[in-house]
Amino acid sequence: MSIKGYIFDIKKYSINDGPGIRTTVFFKGCPLKCWWCHNPESQRKLPEEFEECTFRWHLSHDYENKKRVGSEVTSEEVMIEIEKDVPFYEESDGGATFSGGEPILQINFLNDLLIRCKEKNIHTAIDTTGYTDFKNLELIYNSTDLFLYDLKLMNDDLHIKYTGVSNKIIHANLKRLSDSGNKVVLRIPVVPTITDTEENLDEMIKFIMSLKNIREINLLPYHKSAESKYNKMKKENKLPDLEPPNSEEMNSIKSKFESTGFNVKIGGY
Ligand code: SF4
Repeated sequence: MSIKGYIFDIKKYSINDGPGIRTTVFFKGCPLKCWWCHNPESQRKLPEEFEECTFRWHLSHDYENKKRVGSEVTSEEVMIEIEKDVPFYEESDGGATFSGGEPILQINFLNDLLIRCKEKNIHTAIDTTGYTDFKNLELIYNSTDLFLYDLKLMNDDLHIKYTGVSNKIIHANLKRLSDSGNKVVLRIPVVPTITDTEENLDEMIKFIMSLKNIREINLLPYHKSAESKYNKMKKENKLPDLEPPNSEEMNSIKSKFESTGFNVKIGGY
């Protein structure tokens, strides 16, 4: 039986969301509200409408509604899109990535898609905030080949201020998840003056060194590409004047993590 869920995009030929060439499915809904979010259209669970939508891909039955961001779709419809690119996955050791938003918010829909991918031998990755009950991570553990797990701020007060939620459950889940096997790539957004402070980076390194089985660390530089989305959606951009980190700053943070023995990359996987 096919399960329904809400997505806002499907990106083909992605090379930054896991190994190889991938199809990335963006789920709607996120429990966090990060100040630097570059997908503000992901945050609400239900489809929404706004002028001049620049939604990159539409399911055919929504194609006429250019103002709508997000569609209710079935897992079968999503699998049709994922399976179109199986030859690319086979050639590049790629697969499907479920991102968002937070895909675990729609756990039954996500679980169904992961199981369907596994039945077709398609490699699976999920991009997660980790802000969930651990039982959800356990449910999808066997059908997920790779967790792309976000780590943002170590100080809980700052985490609450800049994302809207506490980091306690996120860090506890990461510890349990990494204890269970070599399936975790950490994704750290580098947001000048917020996540790139010496204090935050030092605390992060201390925490990561206490974890087992971290496969790689990805440093994701803050960028301003969402500016026009905030304007079009009439949502408040809380960091209108913040400039992205330059390559010197990024390389210095990379060296800091590398000096402790981690495999580190600037950008996605
Ligand atoms: S977790 Fe990701 S999608 Fe959710 S608000 Fe933060 S940046 Fe946006």
